[in-house]
Amino acid sequence: MRSPCYLCGEPSILDGLCQNCYNNEHPLVKVSSPLSITICKKCGSVKIPGGWKTLSSQNKDAQRAEQIDILLDMEITPLVPGLSVDIIEENRLDRVLLVRLVVTGKSAPDLEPHTEEYPTEIRYSYMSCDSCSMMSGGYYEATLQIRADERPLTKEEQDQILEIAKERTIAEYGKDTRAFILQIDETKFGLDLYLGSDLLCRKIAEEVEAQFLASRKENFKLYSQDRGGKKKYRTTILLRLPQFLPGDFIEVVGNPCRVLKMGKGGLTCYDLVRRHRFTVSPKSSKWKTIRFITEGDSKREFTVVSNVYGKPLQVMASDTFEILELDDESIRQYVSGDSIYLIEHNNKLYPVPE
Ligand SMILES: [Zn+2]
Ligand SMILES: [Zn+2]
Repeated sequence: MRSPCYLCGEPSILDGLCQNCYNNEHPLVKVSSPLSITICKKCGSVKIPGGWKTLSSQNKDAQRAEQIDILLDMEITPLVPGLSVDIIEENRLDRVLLVRLVVTGKSAPDLEPHTEEYPTEIRYSYMSCDSCSMMSGGYYEATLQIRADERPLTKEEQDQILEIAKERTIAEYGKDTRAFILQIDETKFGLDLYLGSDLLCRKIAEEVEAQFLASRKENFKLYSQDRGGKKKYRTTILLRLPQFLPGDFIEVVGNPCRVLKMGKGGLTCYDLVRRHRFTVSPKSSKWKTIRFITEGDSKREFTVVSNVYGKPLQVMASDTFEILELDDESIRQYVSGDSIYLIEHNNKLYPVPE
């Protein structure tokens, strides 16, 4: 026989209280109302102790939900483990949002779960977060200039580089207050990026350098000196992409080669003399011997006129009808009528494999 609840007289189940009275005496959470939230009017970040918490969503409604989550994470104190909290928007005014928090859980491990509701008022105030203030003040620490050797950047290169810059910036967003791109200038020479953070500039530069096998130069310019005499420098990193692109012809250690692929692993080429594939790293001694020969589409098309054993192969230029003779074992498999591509280098003709 259970003793009666000392508050209401119903049979008690825990600490001399019935389930209802126990739940009333032991709420699931502690939360006060009204709550205040400070939001950046530009990017929606939420002010938290010691800084700003950035949002991951772009859409307005998703952002508002994210802001409330950040606030309630800080303001709701769970008093028991294993709670679920639903947030229901009741009314939205200009600077006030009324929500109902629906909390479900157990006041004690042996009791049945129950639900509690907390009407909560959220009061909004707005200011500019640190990143947005710096951006609107034109703050930047570093410039990344990207050029190509003896040619403008291609549209494809520009797009890929801007994508890298965007991805790197998003990766640093929320970790580094200054991780923003202040400005992008697309000039006829290439790209200039003005970056809030020196570290971000280095990260983007590193990736572009590796991906495009670019050369790199750095310099520093004094831009201000505070009253204590402390000097501040701005970094400029200049990346220069090679003149050649995949498909182009280059000389490597004196041999004409075709560029097949370029990327983080280095430059993959096909040697037209030794007829094999190889890879060159920008750090190798071979790299310094690279000379640009000609663009990929400057190879010339010829038609095989005759291929007789023991005699040179006869080909005719498709553009000028000029007849040439080639003494090259690598093209013995061709028969009359076949097309063959050649490039000229130092007065010699080299077959280009398909
Ligand atoms: Zn009771
Ligand atoms: Zn902001």
